[in-house]
Amino acid sequence: MQIKRIQAIAISLPMIKPVKMSFEEVRNAENVLARIETSDGIIGWGEAASAPTMTGETPGSMVAAIRYLADKLEGLPADDIGAAMHRAGQYLYGNNSAKAAIEMALWDALGQAKGKPVYELLGGAKRLRVPALRLIGTGSTEGDIAETQKRLADGYVAIKIKVGVASPEADAERARAICATVKDDKVLICTDANQAWTPDEAIRFVRGIADTRIEFFEQPVAGHDVAGMARVAAASRVKIGVDEGLHSMDDLQQHHDMKAAQGCSLKTIKLGGMRPVYNAALLCEKLGMQVNLACKIAEAGIASAGLMHLAAAIPAVDWGVSLSSPYLADDIVAEPIALAGGWLNVPTGPGLGIRVDEAKVRRYTREA
Ligand SMILES: [Mg+2]
Repeated sequence: MQIKRIQAIAISLPMIKPVKMSFEEVRNAENVLARIETSDGIIGWGEAASAPTMTGETPGSMVAAIRYLADKLEGLPADDIGAAMHRAGQYLYGNNSAKAAIEMALWDALGQAKGKPVYELLGGAKRLRVPALRLIGTGSTEGDIAETQKRLADGYVAIKIKVGVASPEADAERARAICATVKDDKVLICTDANQAWTPDEAIRFVRGIADTRIEFFEQPVAGHDVAGMARVAAASRVKIGVDEGLHSMDDLQQHHDMKAAQGCSLKTIKLGGMRPVYNAALLCEKLGMQVNLACKIAEAGIASAGLMHLAAAIPAVDWGVSLSSPYLADDIVAEPIALAGGWLNVPTGPGLGIRVDEAKVRRYTREA
């Protein structure tokens, strides 16, 4: 079975409502799909969000990168994903999100060819049900408290509060107010500043949340400022997680060695695919780091399924699974991953276990 054809498709999907990050607001999901046809007529699908502030890639650059790689990979064996991605790396430096879409499509095709779910190909399922980590960020303390209570009533057991939107003191006060309304101490609560603060500001925030039961605080400062992360971590009773600062295994090792983070958020778009995320999770286990597994807001049903297969296969998911498809008003797969009371079930069909609705793909296709 060979790789016969690789296509790149840019899509724009509507969100249920805009999601506010530290300085940007995501109104539409601007994602890129890789559609791979094999010589046996199997169609494999991969997806990656464009996240220029995190990866430097735009929908246009991702489409261009996939098209650039297509004729370098077409004709290669479709069942040696490692070799195909090695070839991709030889021809094109970086562009991990574009590569992630291609790699995911190859796993989907290979799983379909073998009649096995991708998690089996990655090493087998350790679990088939994981807690979803739900974002809380309505723009007001009252709104966040109401949203938190609604989600807990729905059955969620993990929430993430978006911070870095106001002063460190005001955000700490909001986080404390939300924590105070969560009575069940089994609920995982974390915060994410998406690089919004300087180390000094972040230290003011961690002092403000020191006596809460917040489990971890993600990316307080700029991704490249590992020394700043280490300063914040040294001042914090709450564990620090790295997200925007993690683009390779070396980054993971460095954050560990510099005591800059005790855990991390793993995303296929940052690391270049499913196998790299799987390998990073193995390294986390070795280093004693905690793992959050995440889609970028707002990857749709293909990348969400990819994430679920990783959630099944990696050693541990202590910090929850951040699925982004529930924030979308529509999806491009026939049956998006269902949220059963705040918990997620891993699809068990061959490949990614999804059925892509090509009419919907066409409807949401955009120029890139
Ligand atoms: Mg994050």
